[in-house]
Amino acid sequence: MTAHANPKNLIPGATGDWEVVIGLEIHAQVASNAKLFSGAAVGFGAPENSQVSLVDAAMPGMLPVINEECVRQAIRTGLGLKAKINYRSVFDRKNYFYPDLPQGYQISQYKSPIVGEGEVTVDLSPTESFTVGIERLHLEQDAGKSIHDQSPTLSYIDLNRSGTALMEIVSKPDMRSADEAKAYVTKLRTILRYLGTCDGDMEKGNLRADVNVSVRKPGDAFGTRCEIKNVNSIRFIGQAIDYEARRQIGIIEDGGKINQETRLFDAGKGETRSMRSKEEAHDYRYFPDPDLLPLEFDQAYVDDLAGHLSELPDAKKARLIAQYGLTPYDASILVLEKESADYFEAVASPAGKPGRDGKQAANWVINELFGRLNKEGRDVTASPVAPAQIGGIIDLIQAGTISGKLAKDLFEIVFTEGGDPAEIVEARGMKQVTDTGAIEKVIDEVIAANPDKVEQAKAKPTMLGWFVGQVMKASGGKANPGAVNEILKAKLGIE
Ligand code: ADP
Ligand code: MG
Repeated sequence: MTAHANPKNLIPGATGDWEVVIGLEIHAQVASNAKLFSGAAVGFGAPENSQVSLVDAAMPGMLPVINEECVRQAIRTGLGLKAKINYRSVFDRKNYFYPDLPQGYQISQYKSPIVGEGEVTVDLSPTESFTVGIERLHLEQDAGKSIHDQSPTLSYIDLNRSGTALMEIVSKPDMRSADEAKAYVTKLRTILRYLGTCDGDMEKGNLRADVNVSVRKPGDAFGTRCEIKNVNSIRFIGQAIDYEARRQIGIIEDGGKINQETRLFDAGKGETRSMRSKEEAHDYRYFPDPDLLPLEFDQAYVDDLAGHLSELPDAKKARLIAQYGLTPYDASILVLEKESADYFEAVASPAGKPGRDGKQAANWVINELFGRLNKEGRDVTASPVAPAQIGGIIDLIQAGTISGKLAKDLFEIVFTEGGDPAEIVEARGMKQVTDTGAIEKVIDEVIAANPDKVEQAKAKPTMLGWFVGQVMKASGGKANPGAVNEILKAKLGIE
């Protein structure tokens, strides 16, 4: 990391400037059909306790069996984080009591995780980035869920989530502002979604963060941190950091000191609250799970997975810029979701057809299509317009068949009614008029009807714009603007 604090990130206090230090532990639910150690299904919204095997319910004598797909997903994620893959890792029991943890321990990885150090390039803007170090990634089971709001006197336990595979991705304390932390989570989520190893759905709790926050005077050693548990939206992560930094600064400036503790974020109040003082590793009495052998695989196994990874966002962005001449801004918007980039490429270089102008394709996809989808609260996967239809509109503009103005009308028709752009133009007579005779006739009418303006135009050539507007209007937007300009200039005697 940079040795000098970025002045932009400093927080003014009564005793001078402060710097916030942030490290995140992200819990990402592994995209898998079955749980980490049982064959029970994983799915959101199933009836309570309908996806629970005897292993997940911790019936005595049940033995966990590792789900190889979860192992592959963890390795793929490690590769996507440019991290060291450990060919031998160990599952440990982390002992604690939760009503929704029937085993009385969580199977996790402690000293020997499946993935070691890596890094993520985080984008602050289309042209600015910084690096966040990854400390480790380990596999562990999720707990069940306690439900307290169904009965005034009883709590219920739903074990559907019990045993679901999580990847805990631990960052180094490399972030220095709420914006940096938010950008990190955004990028990590994008990478996981590209890899297909976690759907990143924060509303369903499939990606959640433990947020570690401390403050210090720039240049000082790290301060004591507090850990805010289970924050489940990117916006809340930012709010929790800002609140927590101010709270800690206030305490220190009042002569107090920070106690290392676990806190909760109250989204309603926008504040953090103490939950418990920080537990230490020895409180959990970690020990290797005697029911599970160490997890071992070899280089060839990893190489095979590496050979099948999809292109990741950074590489895709660089390629879109190089291959299609896109601006970093357009490319960074397109790579935010893999589906957006795929859509763009299907417009710009359709399979088996000649390619289209990349910048024009990006402009149509980003400004027209995404803009319109945004208005409807839809994303690109729910687009009523297919890439071939956008491509068809672009082809009609390129061929001079329709003007830019008509193209937007055409897009609206295609968006709301569907249909083939070329056929719509034909059927509704939307073709641009390039026949100079027809355009001349309209121009003559406009000139004849406005003798005073013709006089003015002789002294003031910028009046040309007014005439172009009138002619376009009279032609129903169909006259070729280039031809209109040329003929008007000649007739009005404007150079
Ligand atoms: P534990 O296992 O007790 O939670 P770790 O050493 O694994 O502790 O650190 C957990 C997280 O806390 C990591 O993401 C790390 O980057 C972050 N962290 C460590 N020290 C600090 C600090 N002084 N300020 C902010 N975050 C920190
Ligand atoms: Mg922790």
